[in-house]
Amino acid sequence: MTRTNATVCLTFDFDAISLWIGPFGATSPSMISRGEFGAVGARRILGLLDREGIPATFFVTGHTAETYPDIVRDIAAAGHEIGHHGYLHENPIALETREREREVLQRGFDALDRVAGIRPTGYRSPAWDNSPYTIELLLEHGFRYESSLMGKDFVPYWCRVGDVINANGPYEFGEPVDLVEMPVSWVLDDFPYFEHVYLKTGLLNVGLAAPSHVEEVWRGEFDFMYRDVPGGVFNLTMHPQVIGRGHRMLMLERLIAHMRGHDGVTFATLGDAAQTFRGVNPRGGAVA
Ligand SMILES: [Zn+2]
Repeated sequence: MTRTNATVCLTFDFDAISLWIGPFGATSPSMISRGEFGAVGARRILGLLDREGIPATFFVTGHTAETYPDIVRDIAAAGHEIGHHGYLHENPIALETREREREVLQRGFDALDRVAGIRPTGYRSPAWDNSPYTIELLLEHGFRYESSLMGKDFVPYWCRVGDVINANGPYEFGEPVDLVEMPVSWVLDDFPYFEHVYLKTGLLNVGLAAPSHVEEVWRGEFDFMYRDVPGGVFNLTMHPQVIGRGHRMLMLERLIAHMRGHDGVTFATLGDAAQTFRGVNPRGGAVA
């Protein structure tokens, strides 16, 4: 049986040093150098994508763009999509006010524009932690899609505003708005499986999983989608400083080969997949 129209989006959150000096509050050169390794990983990933002929999406913090302008320009020159990912990897919830969140959005835009002449149309919130203001701010700034929510797994949907959080009655869903959600999942993120993080406050994440373990989960997700969700979008989130380690890169290569072994699998940027969703789904039909 020939199947068509399964889409794979390889996405890379290029946090680099911003993750460590931002939310993790690192001051030691050793800890900061872990973000520096992101530059090594990014080069390896660009090489892999080039060899495979795969277009991908990189969510780049403004701080990363300013720290590694040549890599970010090379990402763009290779035809990959660059999305917005804050300035110093600020968790939107931690910014507390709409005004502060708006300032950070603008700072990220300014950095990407200065470094690579890019105005991104896609957004992924650092830590996947949208604030109550995020969707409205993204609309205000003309974004076409965002990728931080987890209401579905393999099917894009329309973002909403006006949800009412009731603890003593049914949750009330707001109205769909002109912003596509490209949903994410912690099971399809390399960071919690692999990255060992010990902060001043204690152990944050054990990590250090064998790639065979992660490969089993990721392949299982893909195989289920391919069988049961026709037209599904497989949105895989990775980080150059995490997946860029040798044994993990080999696993990613095996995963790509596994996907390519299926008929009708297309690799696309998240932006293109969001645009495809827009083309076939009238707004308002995807809330339930
Ligand atoms: Zn990030």
